[in-house]
Amino acid sequence: MPPRKPSAVGVHVPVAGGLSSGGLAYARDVGAEAIQVFLSNPRGWARTPGDPRQDDEFRAGCTKAKIPIFVHASYLVNLASPTPATLENSVLSLRHALSRGCAIGARGVVVHAGSAVTTASKPTAMAQLRENLLPLLDEIPDDGPDVLIEATAGAGQSLAATVDELGPYLEALDAHPRLGICLDTCHAFAAGHDIAAPGGVRTTLNALVRAVGRGRLKLIHANDSKDACGSNRDNHERLGKGRIGIEPFAELFRHPAARGVPLVLETPGKAPEHREDLGLLRSLRDR
Ligand SMILES: [Zn+2]
Ligand SMILES: [Zn+2]
Repeated sequence: MPPRKPSAVGVHVPVAGGLSSGGLAYARDVGAEAIQVFLSNPRGWARTPGDPRQDDEFRAGCTKAKIPIFVHASYLVNLASPTPATLENSVLSLRHALSRGCAIGARGVVVHAGSAVTTASKPTAMAQLRENLLPLLDEIPDDGPDVLIEATAGAGQSLAATVDELGPYLEALDAHPRLGICLDTCHAFAAGHDIAAPGGVRTTLNALVRAVGRGRLKLIHANDSKDACGSNRDNHERLGKGRIGIEPFAELFRHPAARGVPLVLETPGKAPEHREDLGLLRSLRDR
């Protein structure tokens, strides 16, 4: 098998001003090789229509620069919610993100694993998630984006926080071919994976491969954590400025499961900080 090319490093870009004039311009400014965007307000249910001209320019610009595009669905999406209105909005919102993702040529749409909230039985919550997610996965056209499940930091009745929990999670969804995994380093650390310890990244990624199989890891959110390992708190920090530190990210680039998998920063700050953090990632990758 020919070696896969090294992982692209990128950032979640702000898209005020439009996908192309705002988002792609930002990516160019900070030197991003991969892009993640919100296509609607991430804390709301509005299904914002695209601007065809911005969509086309964005798609063409990213294709030309070989920049893979990822979409992050609304934070509110929870297909396991016991609240009927939330469930209905979740389906509509995720379907919208997938069709918009298709229009802009996205490779994946990231969605959080979901929570049982007040549903006493997690299997019941998971059954509801299955019933609502499988039809959406079946609707995705061949050239459309995959759905990338992002494990959470583990607070509340989360359906998947540790990488081990992703195994049964994917199985409950028939290991659908359109499913992938987005690993967030801050979430994994908060959920109890001590990736800051020497060899911690290797242990965690080995466990991930055992749980979900090879080739499912499609995206990494590269974030440091303000809080301690096992805190279940989701507080992103700039790389090297939190509890994870810099070395684990170097280890990430060396693991075969992460080879060629794009990394996207979701770290605090604006263009100068993102430019600096991307430079740091590149220096670790190209060591
Ligand atoms: Zn997320
Ligand atoms: Zn994330």
